[in-house]
Amino acid sequence: MKKHIYITRKIPEAGLKLLRDNNISFDMGTKKTPPSKKEIIKALKKKQYDGVISFLTDTLDAEVFDACPTSKIYANFAVGFNNADIEEAKKRNISITNTPGTSSVAVAEHTVALMFALTTRLVEGDRYMRKGKYKGWDPELLVGSDMKGKTIGIIGGGQIGTQVAKMLHNGFDVNIIYSDIVPNKELEECFCVQRKETSEILREADIISLHVPLLPSTTHLINAENLKTMKKTAFLINTSRGPIIDEKALVNALKNKTICGAGLDVYEFEPKLVKGLNKLSNVVLTPHIASSRITARNMMAEIAAKNIISVVNGGEPINNVIK
Ligand code: NAD
Repeated sequence: MKKHIYITRKIPEAGLKLLRDNNISFDMGTKKTPPSKKEIIKALKKKQYDGVISFLTDTLDAEVFDACPTSKIYANFAVGFNNADIEEAKKRNISITNTPGTSSVAVAEHTVALMFALTTRLVEGDRYMRKGKYKGWDPELLVGSDMKGKTIGIIGGGQIGTQVAKMLHNGFDVNIIYSDIVPNKELEECFCVQRKETSEILREADIISLHVPLLPSTTHLINAENLKTMKKTAFLINTSRGPIIDEKALVNALKNKTICGAGLDVYEFEPKLVKGLNKLSNVVLTPHIASSRITARNMMAEIAAKNIISVVNGGEPINNVIK
């Protein structure tokens, strides 16, 4: 019998083609903005879907699973999967899959771009020009800092953290340190990166970049208390997940010059910003676009489709995140 799935929002043609080629039909949400949980439940109740392709903005919990008891898989179109209740899915023998590695290069490049945006004061310079403030060359104008010679601290030495280290090790004269609950031999042996405690990274690094998944153990990993242990000259970069930083504490630290600046692609209360963040000149903000590349998006669509194809045909999920 032909299998039928639901896709909560439009995914690239590369994934849709794979589904069609494998005789899988689909209904697809048409909203440009993330559907609410209520809207997802309403859509899922309409038919007996065999599987679902979901997004990081979709809540996947008991109520959603109840809405579609026939779905054996929720293939997340994302590397992270903190939107899913993993324990609940495990109880029901539902597979939750992700798209690991698809956006590591894109996110790492975006991370390095945020680092340079801060050290060169690029965005501040752009705003200055647009406001017509430039009145001629001034040796004291928007003085930045060198990347060369800096210590870069990577918290979470997984796929993205490793790509960041590789780019910086190969291209720039920097010292790199990392923390991870699991040692990463590639980082240590290929890119001369030394493993330390997270508290040491925070104390020693000039630029700290977060690449851990969002888990109960990483929620507010950066908080009011440990922001104080960072160098006054330090920059903090977050391209992982917003709630890893206590954003209210970050705004205070940036206002009080406890640290020098921050580059953020993700936000604690996304898409909302905490009060005061948009008023600060020492932050560079991007709208969760670190993985937004045609290459990455196509790969994500293909991997989500491949997981669906395998599971709806009675096979194993390729990228099950449930251990
Ligand atoms: P990964 O699983 O390869 O690496 C995560 C690493 O963090 C692992 O090595 C793990 O051991 C480590 N870790 C877990 N808890 C830790 C802790 N308490 N302290 C230190 N290290 C810890 O994942 P990845 O592919 O590198 O992606 C990292 C995160 O980036 C994802 O979980 C996702 O949330 C985020 N992400 C964001 C975007 C974006 O568009 N901004 C895109 C892709 C991924």
